[in-house]
Amino acid sequence: MKVKNMLLKTIFFKLLLIIGLIEFLLMSLFYFIVTLPPFMEALADVFLLALLSTPFIYIFVLRPIEVVFIRQKKLEESMLHLSNQFIDNIDYEFDKKIQSVLSVTADAFESISCGAIYEVKDETYQQYFHYVKDNSESALFPLKIGQSDFSYMNEILLKKQSLFFCKNNVTDKKIIELFKSNQGCIIIIPMFSKAKLEGFICFETYSTQELHHDEILILIIAAQMIINAMKRHEIDQQLKKFSNALMQTGDAVSITDRKGIIEYVNPAFEALTKYSENELIGKKSSIMKSGMHEDIFYHEVWQTIVRGEPFHGEFINKDKSGILYYEDKTITSIKNDEGEITNYLSTGRDITQRKAMEHVLRELAAKDNLTKVFNRSQWDIFYNNFVDKKDMHCGFYLLLYDIDNFKKINDTFGHQQGDVVLKEIASRVQEAIRPEDILLRWGGEEFIIMTLFENDEKALSFSERIREVVSSCRFDEIGHVSVSIGIARHDEWMDKDTLVEKADQAMYQAKKEGKNRVKFL
Ligand code: GH3
Ligand code: MG
Ligand code: MG
Repeated sequence: MKVKNMLLKTIFFKLLLIIGLIEFLLMSLFYFIVTLPPFMEALADVFLLALLSTPFIYIFVLRPIEVVFIRQKKLEESMLHLSNQFIDNIDYEFDKKIQSVLSVTADAFESISCGAIYEVKDETYQQYFHYVKDNSESALFPLKIGQSDFSYMNEILLKKQSLFFCKNNVTDKKIIELFKSNQGCIIIIPMFSKAKLEGFICFETYSTQELHHDEILILIIAAQMIINAMKRHEIDQQLKKFSNALMQTGDAVSITDRKGIIEYVNPAFEALTKYSENELIGKKSSIMKSGMHEDIFYHEVWQTIVRGEPFHGEFINKDKSGILYYEDKTITSIKNDEGEITNYLSTGRDITQRKAMEHVLRELAAKDNLTKVFNRSQWDIFYNNFVDKKDMHCGFYLLLYDIDNFKKINDTFGHQQGDVVLKEIASRVQEAIRPEDILLRWGGEEFIIMTLFENDEKALSFSERIREVVSSCRFDEIGHVSVSIGIARHDEWMDKDTLVEKADQAMYQAKKEGKNRVKFL
């Protein structure tokens, strides 16, 4: 109907009718009223001939030309319409967008009655979208093309860009049967993405004519647009999933560029650092640097990630309010298709509480329950420390002290009073020594002090001071207590047992000489 209206509207057709009418009137006038001279009669015959041939000229020459032009115009319009679907409707719901592309494509062809998009899923073809033109009796396409027909379809689709199957003059009855086509003709256009067959578009048509080259082209373009949109949609969905996961994870995630400038942070990162996203984006990741690590630590971090290897370690960082926190962090490099590093991804977890707990546990394991000074398990560590620390100017001195007549205290005043004495003396001695000195309970009522001094005299006077600190201490019931101290100086040839043995010998000597004294062998 639309085409006929357009034809009637053409000026050319109207002109022909008007000329014909005038001709007819003139002819009647000349034939019946006026007797014409032979020249005029010949002219009138020419006019009559022209009049009679007008319909034939229109039907066989003008109309086909016009139809081709109209079809061309329609295709151009559909093409424009198709591209607009993707440009205009960028926020349009994806399903509706695809549906409209399918309908616009089908509408561009008079003879197409319905169409559907199929995509590959689990070794089958599944109908994804379906379109039926108004008032048309549609074929019920299969919703799913099962595995047995899947490989058959694949084989056919991989061969050509577009396919036309007709019940009447093309042999592939299987395809016609598969689509249960009423009209008997099926057009199939495969959809490829990165040279992989992803699915196809199928149309039912009542025209038994194979499509024109231009028409096939527009169908191929539509198929390509659809598959591109489907793939982009798939990526969008995936990105949305990742982004949601990042938003909701408890891990602090940040992405920086190659220079360490922050480009992305998730809410957990904001919560950990107490900085807002706006305060972080564009800043260097060193904004959280606490100064608690040596430069060599950061150097090692950079060296590792620049090589493209992941770095995993514990960072002591500083939040916006200046509070330090421990972060268990992994930094990985993100590479592009060429293998070049474009970004760094950091995922971290706040382990401050765990660290605090570890510290408490370590303290508990290292300290003596009763006196709260270090226990014997720490002897090896501190011994090695002091051996390392001593130098030409400072020697490593070991003081071993033992409470005098402690057994008697226990026996006379009870074990509990004995404990009070042990605790009090340890606390006094701990206060008396310097921060870098170490007090350690060797066992029972024997204690060790590790210290560094320039010479024996200084070590001796330090020991005297310790002895005085203890002897000046008075207990309500017990009165004064005393200690005997043996000193030994670490020499190169000594091992740790020898050092203790020497101090023990000195202490024994002090006891022997009457207790409450310092002895340096
Ligand atoms: P000396 O002057 O020669 O050192 O004599 P002493 O009485 O101190 O002799 P000894 O070293 O044999 O006595 C140590 C006593 O310390 C024996 C033990 O029962 C007691 N003792 C060891 N550990 C503890 C403790 O944790 N609490 C109490 N109350 N007593 C302890
Ligand atoms: Mg003892
Ligand atoms: Mg004793």
